[in-house]
Amino acid sequence: MIRFDILTVFPEMFASVLGCSLLKKASDRGVIDIRLHDIRSHTEDKHRMTDDAPYGGGGGMVMKVDPIDRTLQSIPRMADDVPVILLTPQGEPFRQRTAEKLALYPQLILLCGHYEGVDERVRTHLVNREISIGDYVLTGGELSAMVVVDAVSRLIPGVLGNSESAGSDSFSMGVLEYPHYTRPAEYRGWKVPEVLLSGNHREIEAWRRKQSLLRTRERRPDLLAEGGLTEKEERWLAEEADEE
Ligand code: SAM
Repeated sequence: MIRFDILTVFPEMFASVLGCSLLKKASDRGVIDIRLHDIRSHTEDKHRMTDDAPYGGGGGMVMKVDPIDRTLQSIPRMADDVPVILLTPQGEPFRQRTAEKLALYPQLILLCGHYEGVDERVRTHLVNREISIGDYVLTGGELSAMVVVDAVSRLIPGVLGNSESAGSDSFSMGVLEYPHYTRPAEYRGWKVPEVLLSGNHREIEAWRRKQSLLRTRERRPDLLAEGGLTEKEERWLAEEADEE
């Protein structure tokens, strides 16, 4: 069970993603607990302002530190070391390994920025981690928070069904996953590889591993460079390369 506390000025953006499929089922079963906190409800001025013009001038608005601080203070912490994460394009890149590590905590607090970003004092005093979901700039942190919630949730026991497993997914084993096929066995002359119909599980497993390695070498050779292959597999890949 993991609890996500999400701070946002647009809580309504989460309804469709959290309200269907596996995340909804996991919420309904109490395996994940997602709490949305509207930063605007922690403003104290008449206009309920969550952002203001930047000191020093320039375009765009900056999210104010005080409503964010008050929102954070309203959230109970389930442990001393709960990650309080600012979603920002300037943060550490979000990878499967990051998701695996975050899934070990009982609670994650996620702060979604908007506009030009947040007052720098949020970064220096209120959060203890910054995460980027990629080298591009989104209009707000809500989509980024959903990406983190989704990737972390599917690693929590009980979120994926029994027949599904995150263990063989791309990146989990340091390589990309093998290709999948389902019925029909032939469609418009496009055939499913014979080995998958053979019922020989050892051969199927060996074929899948080889496909994983070939696919990773073709698309993400950087992953292979990080290691994790047996000597035999490295030899086999080298021989394949020689043959091509
Ligand atoms: N001015 C900021 C900069 O150049 O670094 C970008 C602000 S962006 C328009 C508004 C908000 O979207 C950010 O505060 C952040 O919460 C979110 N955001 C945008 N791109 C993101 C990314 N790649 N990863 C995570 N969050 C992102």
